[in-house]
Formats: sequence, C-alpha cells, structure tokens
Amino acid sequence: MSSEKPTILVTGGAGYIGSHTVLALQKAGYEVVILDNLVYGHRDLVEQVLQVELVVGDTNDRALLDQLFTSRQFVAVMHFSAYAYVGESVSDPAKYYRNNVIGTLTLLEAMEAASIKNFVFSSTCATYGVPTQVPIPEDHPQNPINPYGATKLMVERILSDFDVAYGLKSVRFRYFNAAGADPNGNLGEDHNPETHLIPLVLQTALGKRESVAVFGTDYPTPDGTCIRDYIHVSDLADAHVLGLEYLLKGGDSAVFNLGNGNGFSVREVIDTAKKITGKDIKVIECDRRPGDPPALIGSGDKARQILGWEPQYPDLENILAHAWSWHQKRHK
Ligand code: UDP
Repeated sequence: MSSEKPTILVTGGAGYIGSHTVLALQKAGYEVVILDNLVYGHRDLVEQVLQVELVVGDTNDRALLDQLFTSRQFVAVMHFSAYAYVGESVSDPAKYYRNNVIGTLTLLEAMEAASIKNFVFSSTCATYGVPTQVPIPEDHPQNPINPYGATKLMVERILSDFDVAYGLKSVRFRYFNAAGADPNGNLGEDHNPETHLIPLVLQTALGKRESVAVFGTDYPTPDGTCIRDYIHVSDLADAHVLGLEYLLKGGDSAVFNLGNGNGFSVREVIDTAKKITGKDIKVIECDRRPGDPPALIGSGDKARQILGWEPQYPDLENILAHAWSWHQKRHK
C-alpha cells in the first residue's frame, strides 16, 4: 500500500527544518525519500525517528540525481539542503555560491529532465537586506547584504525563469528565524558548529558553554540589540505541507513569508530563556556580526490567506520551552 502514496524527495531532510518537515509530510500521508550529504545532517535522526529511505549524496551530483529520478516517481521535490551560516557566507562566499546556487541549478536541471514539475524552496528573509518597511511584505525590494541571502535570491530568480521556460511550478518560502523543536521532543536543532542564538543561549543554560555573546548593542532598536521574528520550526513544517498541496492542486508559482509578525531583541530572547530554564545565563557584549540587519520581522498574512496557514506556537515562551526540552534530552 505504501508505494501508492505520493512520494516527495526532500533534500536536506536530515537537517533541522527538513527533518521537521519530513515528520509533517509523514503525518499528512506522504512517502518521503531524503537526499542529504550528511555534512550537517544527522543520520541517527533519520534512522531512529523518521525511519525513511536516506540517500547519502549531493545535489551537485547530476549522475546520482538522474539515477534517483529514474528509480522512482516523485510528485515534487522539497529543497532544504543549503549552507546557511550568514557569517561564513561573508568570509567564504565561493562555498555558498557553489553549493546553494550551482547545487540547486543541477537539481532543477535533473528535475526538468525527469519531468518533475513541483518544487518547494527554502528561501529566506535575508534576501530582503535592510528592510525599509516592517513587517516586511513579500513585494518588499530584495537587496541582500550578505552572500547567503544573495545565493537564495539567485535561486528565486532561476525559479521564475524556469517557470516561464519549462513550466516548473514553485513555492518559495522566505523564512524568518526558525526556532524551537518538535513539541513531542523527537526532533530539534543540532548544528555543528552552532552559531544560532537560541541553541547557544540554551547550551549556556545547560552549562555546556560559559557565556553567550551579544553581537552588537548599538543598533537603532529600543535596547540596542538586533530584533528577529522567531518562528516555530513545526509551524514552518506545516506551511511546507500546505505549500506542497497548493502546488499539487495546480496552484501557480508563489512566494510566501513565514514569520509571526512579531519581533524580539537578542536581550529579550536571553531574558525569556532565563525565565523558562530557571538558570542564570552569562552574557558578554561584543561587536556587531558582519551581515546582520538591525530588525527583521515578517508578515505571514499572505500564507494565512492563500494557504490557510495558522501558526500553532507563535509565542516565544513556547518556542523556547520546546527547544529547552530538546536540548536537555540531546545534551544529557
Ligand atoms: N546573535 C548573538 N549572539 C550569538 C548568535 C547570534 O547576538 O551568539 C544574534 C545575531 O546577531 C542576530 C540574532 O542573534 O541578530 C539571531 O541570529 P541567528 O544566528 O540565530 O540567526 P540569523 O538571524 O543569522 O538567521
């Protein structure tokens, strides 16, 4: 029976947002195959939690893709695999253009050759650069200020051109700050190296780190630290299933922000984490990190209206509480 379920290829399905989306796809009745090079992904989570087929390989490997696309029928590809460290993209842009742009182009060409016409893409609010309007709507100008954002914008452009030329339909999700963990505690955020604020704060609360650095206290924001819109990873995952279903029903290519429309400063995140964990969290004030805009807040109105998306966990407390449960379990 299982072979009758529509099958989705999820690249980067062993990573943070990808793995939560695989869980949501399974709940919605889809069969999933994961393609992941395991540079940052976690084999143990795929094998023990998701229990789906894992193909270990790279989106730059055209021969592997051709073989995969002839071996079974995929109704869509969800593409999460990418390098996503803003700071590293500034210091090593070649790595980002090669993986995020050329890897995606290779994947899209292989899809075209195999006549797979539906694509769900992880884009980012980093494509907007420094916003002139907050909350940011989807038609806000896109002027990325770091190579990571530039690579995602290039792929967005490729997707528009592939739609016109080859009829490839895509949903592009521009994420704000993915955070939190599966509410059932089965999956969570586990980057190595870890550079993201919330896991670093929670690892400090766990005693795994001495202190957390605050990058910049002189931003034009009420407390001088950067403001971000933290969106629960399970809410992101649900949006991907809705985006997929929108495409499978014949929807036109579209772009959606995925944010809560609410921003929290770095200091607010740390203060809330102190409350949730009951631990003291030592802070060290540092210089700004290159490539960081002062405030990024996204309007999710379009995704609500067109996809019927309704975030289940919009509160920072919930996001931190789920992340805290996961970190306690993962770093026991
Ligand atoms: N940040 C910080 N200290 C850290 C890591 C991050 O102050 O150790 C800040 C960072 O400058 C940004 C916010 O926290 O303003 C969120 O950063 P993160 O790396 O989590 O996500 P990004 O916004 O880069 O996607």
